[in-house]
Amino acid sequence: MKRSFGILFCLFFGLMGFAQDEATLKSQVRHAIDELVQFVGIPNDALDAADINRNISWLTREFNDRGFNTSVLPTEGRPLFFAALPMEDDKPTVLLYMHFDGQSVDPSKWDQSNPYKVVLKAPENGTFTERSFDELNDDIDYEWRLFGRSTSDDKGPIVMFLNAIDLLRKENKAIPFNIKVILDGEEEKSSKPLPKAVKQYRELLAADFLMINDGPVHASGKPTVVYGCRGITSLSITTYGPEYPQHSGHYGNYAPNPGLQLAQLLAGMKDEQGRVTIPGFYDGISMDEATLKVLKSVPEDSEKINEYLGINTPDRVGQFYQESLQYPSLNIRGLGSAWIGEKARTIVPATATAELDIRLVPESDGTRLKKLVRTYIEGQGYHVIDSIPRRELRLTHPRIATLREGSVTDAFRTDLDNAYGNFIVKTMGSAFGEPVVQIRIMGGTVPIAPFINELKIPAFIVPMVNPDNNQHSPNENLRIGQIDYGIRVFYHLLGSQM
Ligand SMILES: [Zn+2]
Repeated sequence: MKRSFGILFCLFFGLMGFAQDEATLKSQVRHAIDELVQFVGIPNDALDAADINRNISWLTREFNDRGFNTSVLPTEGRPLFFAALPMEDDKPTVLLYMHFDGQSVDPSKWDQSNPYKVVLKAPENGTFTERSFDELNDDIDYEWRLFGRSTSDDKGPIVMFLNAIDLLRKENKAIPFNIKVILDGEEEKSSKPLPKAVKQYRELLAADFLMINDGPVHASGKPTVVYGCRGITSLSITTYGPEYPQHSGHYGNYAPNPGLQLAQLLAGMKDEQGRVTIPGFYDGISMDEATLKVLKSVPEDSEKINEYLGINTPDRVGQFYQESLQYPSLNIRGLGSAWIGEKARTIVPATATAELDIRLVPESDGTRLKKLVRTYIEGQGYHVIDSIPRRELRLTHPRIATLREGSVTDAFRTDLDNAYGNFIVKTMGSAFGEPVVQIRIMGGTVPIAPFINELKIPAFIVPMVNPDNNQHSPNENLRIGQIDYGIRVFYHLLGSQM
């Protein structure tokens, strides 16, 4: 089994015209594993400035060793790390974004005592068993995994990049791009200084396109390119009944119930299939045949998704999963009034509150959508305020709602038909001999969208790691095969002529 894979592999790369063989690549993967163990060994919680500085020292050394010029860019928060190969005027410039900080750890929740000391494990009967690193010396099993904070998110991809550069250098391959790398030191803490930093360092960061190497590949495990991600904003709505909770026997049928008011308000915002009925909510969104074709080409099966979710019938904002992500959402993320369960009391509650989040797409400005919701609530006869109503107000208005608005993080999306995007998809497709999964917009929100929008260049997320990596959670891990994958992606993208 293994041998035939090896033969196929050599044959494959022979066909591709790349000089690397399985042995060369595997020894590079072995090198990358050692390097990642070392890098993960430096704790990287952005709350600790000294940790971040130690990581920057490591990065400075590793990038300098590979011929990069490096600098540390001060910001209002943690510094950014910047590296670039010597520039040549006639080459297009790619800017790579990754981050070296990680989520905070709670060692008591991990299966290993130190989340920063990488543990090697092999899958066995649905679980993982610890193995010795010495066992990697004979052969490397690509299903084995490295457990530790940031193995996947996002130190792994940085190490894959460095090792792809090693491979290109070893083979004396020309790199037809100018390469700039910006590494964030507080992505897990929302990258707050980034948009301002890009203004300040605009010239240094100038590039023709941006590639972000963060997050997991598509659930199918296939090569993936993502063109955008949704933004987010939030709303909190509170309705009011009697000033204080009242006995439901004495005042039921008389004191208006805030729970019912809120339920009616919320129910009026959507139809039975989950589509927002507030006029204008989906304005500006249209999809042509070519776009629908790309959305449909994502290897997903509605039945499997429904089974995973444990649902019978999905909402019908889109006709299928990927299409549904092309629209803004209006989601009730929390709902509360008085007490429930064993604590339920026979009262008419004083208040009811719904917490909403709205996932945004580029066509849907968050401030505009919040205004539409506000106008809708006013249209239902509510006096809308942004604080808790005083007694006089309660006595003079039949219906009052408090509306509190969260801040807006914008979406970003690059055109599917973009020369750099086409290059990435084509190069990866021929490198792996299979179609690349193209995600037009992913459902979640990345904190670097403001940074991407600020740069005003086409941006692509090219993820490297396994979907089941326990990102942000205890027992974060990286499948070793992904290191091979990431090195190959960087090697082909940075070593191929556009
Ligand atoms: Zn990340």
